Amino acid sequence: MRIDPHAHSSRSDGTDAPAELMAAAARAGLDVVGLTDHDTTAGWAEAAAAVATTGVSLLRGTEISCAADGVTLHLLAYLFDPEDAALRDAFARARRSRDDRARRMVDRLATDYPITWQDVVEQAPQAVTIGRPHIADALVSSGCFPDRAAAFAGPLATDSPYYVRHWALDPVRACELVRSAGGVPIAAHPRAARRQRRLVPDETFAAMAEAGLAALEVDHRDHDAAGREAARDLARRLGLGTSGASDYHGAGKPNRLGENLMPPGLLDRVVAEGALPLVTA
Ligand code: AMP
Ligand code: FE
Ligand code: FE
Ligand code: ZN
Repeated sequence: MRIDPHAHSSRSDGTDAPAELMAAAARAGLDVVGLTDHDTTAGWAEAAAAVATTGVSLLRGTEISCAADGVTLHLLAYLFDPEDAALRDAFARARRSRDDRARRMVDRLATDYPITWQDVVEQAPQAVTIGRPHIADALVSSGCFPDRAAAFAGPLATDSPYYVRHWALDPVRACELVRSAGGVPIAAHPRAARRQRRLVPDETFAAMAEAGLAALEVDHRDHDAAGREAARDLARRLGLGTSGASDYHGAGKPNRLGENLMPPGLLDRVVAEGALPLVTA
């Protein structure tokens, strides 16, 4: 069983439409792919409709933006009720705040780079969740940078003067909300030191474990060898499972589908505990 439980479509900051992601998953030889767009379930229906033709099973999820004391953390949530009011409200609030924050970043950038809000909107015609990757795409299309990675290494970095924060859920509260919506939470890339200087402390993961966290994503390309070891050790100490994933974003990142996988035993547990089934052919 080849399970890649964390991938993005053009409904957030990936570049493949949900059906294209399913086709790419088939070409990558996956049995199961997780669609986990940021703060939305908007791609689920289109991806589910592609299960029969691709033969790839769909694990429905969302990557929830969280923050504790100004440190961001991404929480993967699987197989929750998409109609749950509290979770829907949180997603909507995060998307509104992301929109507002992206406009403010573009205002700041526009003093030094030739981009407008309209340029960003044009880069993201299918997106319901706007993020820095779309601003990166606008900077690339205006010729300022060769690719997203270069824009992230420059003006889009978290310590850049152009960076603006957005509202995000507290991660312990997010675990509670996901569980009360029948879902299963897994912390994404918890030791990705490349992304920001400060990392979420172990105590926060302990509190998340109390609130229902099921596992930590250990095998992820944003973890170096020490980060993987630290994440694996933390999972062991907290009695959590360990996962792995590509975090595929289509052409937006070098991450390739299937480059890291979730152990089948963990998928069994997610399906057993989740409110929704896998979508299978
Ligand atoms: P945001 O959530 O808007 O702050 O932007 C964070 C998103 O940017 C993450 O979900 C990543 O997918 C993406 N990202 C972070 N670093 C890079 C990078 N170096 N190249 C491309 N995308 C990146
Ligand atoms: Fe992303
Ligand atoms: Fe993430
Ligand atoms: Zn992701």
